[in-house]
Amino acid sequence: MIESSVWHPFTQHGLGEAIPLVTRAEGAVLHTADGRRIVDAISSWWVTTHGHRHPRIVAAMREQAERLDQIIFAGWTHEPAEELARGLRAMMPDSLTRVFYSDSGSTAVEVALKMALGYWLARGEARHRILVMEHGYHGDTIGAMSVGARGVFNRAYAPLLFDVETVPFPAAGHEQATLGALTRACAGGEAAAFIVEPLVLGAGGMLVYPAWVLCEMRAICAAAGVLFISDEVMTGWGRTGTLLAGEQAGIVPDILCLSKGLTGGAVPLAVTMASEAVWAAHYSRDRATMFFHSSSYTANPLACAAAVANLAIWREEPVLARVADLGARQAARLAGLAAHPAVSGVRQIGTIAALEIGGRDGYLSALGPGLLRFFGERDLLLRPLGDTVYVMPPYCIGDDDMDRVYAAIGEACDLIA
Ligand code: PLP
Repeated sequence: MIESSVWHPFTQHGLGEAIPLVTRAEGAVLHTADGRRIVDAISSWWVTTHGHRHPRIVAAMREQAERLDQIIFAGWTHEPAEELARGLRAMMPDSLTRVFYSDSGSTAVEVALKMALGYWLARGEARHRILVMEHGYHGDTIGAMSVGARGVFNRAYAPLLFDVETVPFPAAGHEQATLGALTRACAGGEAAAFIVEPLVLGAGGMLVYPAWVLCEMRAICAAAGVLFISDEVMTGWGRTGTLLAGEQAGIVPDILCLSKGLTGGAVPLAVTMASEAVWAAHYSRDRATMFFHSSSYTANPLACAAAVANLAIWREEPVLARVADLGARQAARLAGLAAHPAVSGVRQIGTIAALEIGGRDGYLSALGPGLLRFFGERDLLLRPLGDTVYVMPPYCIGDDDMDRVYAAIGEACDLIA
């Protein structure tokens, strides 16, 4: 334990838990100052897709640091940003022709929302309403919170949040209710955009829904001219078994948000990719209609160089084969726990596995802090969402470490049952 003034995110400081001091990491393993070897079973908040310190990403950042560290991006450019935009265009759906840089998943969402509203203003249509999905999570900045689920995460900040229209989550057997609600919400000409996490809602509890529903939702928005914003901040970069989750539904959004695995999880960076129509609405000689968004570090060269290296890894290494293999290894272990009396449900999509433990009490479940401590004591980085324990490791995790993770989850289940 060290004396510290640091105020940590989403951390219950009042519990007085020791906060591990991490000094080094490689692959799926973290090393702490007190000599512990910890398995990173959630990819350090879902970011380190290829594992910590992938040599190609480390080398790319080192080389870039020797040349250009930072440059204003308003009206200036640099090679890593240009190369990354070319790479993303080649890799992502054809109709997403424009790449706007920012720094996090939350800002990628803010940018998407601003693009959507700017689009309708430029077209002279009074469309202001944003449609969202129940249980969604899109980040913790004001706009991102506004389009996320209301509740314990943001109750104190309610005065800052704007009104949205929420369609119900398409739970099994209730898919038509979702589609009906979305159709009604799109009618009337006030809806500007629908923002959704494709196939799986992450922070909402790893809630999975079928690809055909995503496909139908896309079609409903297209028919009503409502912009479709796909938030692939968590699902992108192979997490659900394909490069993008949207591929499994055959959909292409008008606006796509990517972050987390964009740099292989090494440094912060995000992109909001937009269709030519969204770009064209902001293309003008009139200074009153440019896209009014920036931050000091927009498209930081070190971050762009890391992302360029990530794209090369995707092109040249068998990443999707690793993803498929990890998915199969997750499935085998999950099956071993599905019938456990303490487990009330299991879910999996691609590399993401989740178990509901105990009585479905949600995020504030009394089990949460105890589970967190339990896994910490077993040298595992697992961070249950209340009573939902999920495993989302780097694609390079070894079998022994996977076994350790699932043995501990089994042990926790035994204590709860
Ligand atoms: N969108 C989704 C779907 C997310 O899962 C997250 C973070 O978990 C975000 C946006 C916010 O990303 P960040 O934490 O990088 O701001």
